[in-house]
Amino acid sequence: MFNQFKYRNMKILLFCLSLFISSLCFSQSYNYAIYCKDTLCSEYMAGRAYRESGDKKAAEFIRNELTKNNVKLLGDNGFQTVGISINNILDVELKMNNLSDSLKLGEDFLVTGSSPTSEIEIKNIKPLIFNNKEQISDVKIKKLKDKVLLFNMGDLTFYDIMLFVRSLVKENINPKLAIVQNYDKIEYLIGSSVLPFPVLQLKGRPFKKKIDYLKLSIESTFDSDYESQNVWAVVEGTKYKDSCFVFVSHYDHLGKVGNVYFPGANDNASGVSVLLDLAGYYAKNPAEYSVVFIFVTGEETGLLGSSFAAMNPLVDLTKIKFLFNLDMCGTGSTGVAVINGKKEKRAGELLQKINSENNWFSKIVLGEESCNSDHCPFVKRGVPAHFLFTYGCEYNEYHTIYDNGKALFFTKHIDFCNLLKEFVRRYR
Ligand SMILES: [Zn+2]
Repeated sequence: MFNQFKYRNMKILLFCLSLFISSLCFSQSYNYAIYCKDTLCSEYMAGRAYRESGDKKAAEFIRNELTKNNVKLLGDNGFQTVGISINNILDVELKMNNLSDSLKLGEDFLVTGSSPTSEIEIKNIKPLIFNNKEQISDVKIKKLKDKVLLFNMGDLTFYDIMLFVRSLVKENINPKLAIVQNYDKIEYLIGSSVLPFPVLQLKGRPFKKKIDYLKLSIESTFDSDYESQNVWAVVEGTKYKDSCFVFVSHYDHLGKVGNVYFPGANDNASGVSVLLDLAGYYAKNPAEYSVVFIFVTGEETGLLGSSFAAMNPLVDLTKIKFLFNLDMCGTGSTGVAVINGKKEKRAGELLQKINSENNWFSKIVLGEESCNSDHCPFVKRGVPAHFLFTYGCEYNEYHTIYDNGKALFFTKHIDFCNLLKEFVRRYR
């Protein structure tokens, strides 16, 4: 009786201990991801682009974390050099009507990253105004040379406007200045080339029909061959060393404009943090297959890092069982989106099956193909791949100075990692 009692107590004690240890592992994993996100978003990283070597600082941080976690580096001590062309906006000043000191860069105004060094002063001018696509397609473009153009966002998207602006440049018809207004929050567009005239972006609608006064000064510098880097690492498999699963995430973001930086918490400190957490896990618990991690640069400048990685791979692309690109995964209250999910259906259905067995996410949606992130250059070379991002209304900052991660809580971090680990364990 006594012995039985002791045995039962012992079992309860062991059960509690195992619960405690697993919750400790969970919170360690969660805290580690938050630590990675916060470090990557810090001012020191300068928005993880090319001014102040933000990309190099981020790559160094990633490499140090991998080394700390005993993950084997590939390539030149983990690094693979990638050439990037970039237009850096060093300084912007704007004076408008009677407002001057009160205008905040990033908040009230921005210039697009491809704006050239300029000095423009305008007094009492009626700009040419565009409110919709019809007005854009109907206009005689020769009339626009040396004029001030004013685009009102609404029916027009920023994409429509930039497409039109680039079509003018192609025809060698250069306005003096393009102004885009009616933003709620201004999104930055990084520049990998230089336009012949600046594009100014304004919060709200400060201009109706006339511009009384505007002075815009920009200092920018173009670098056609900046040396950035991808970071590669591997945890070798216990059974099938030569075949691998691959995780890709871009660590670059939009950098700095003047003295304002873009932290890029969800885009994509979140994906990098998940990868670092997974790398640490696999170093301690290797899978049967090798697991490769590629932290790519230059996504925001046009998938440059992943394109270079796919063209110059450090592992045999034909030996990749499956590749996941993780970009923007700090949320998850609504679910997970799987770009390329319909094309790579068997893998997509396995993700759904694992999820429904465990009730981790309310839904996993299999989407169409899209070349909108770093999986695409690999897909083009025949690698089976998904692009996963989490979604949920708990956070929706994108390409603004407000994507600072203060309210980004990695809602489903543990479930998301478990989903990926189960996939690696089961996909054959
Ligand atoms: Zn982005």
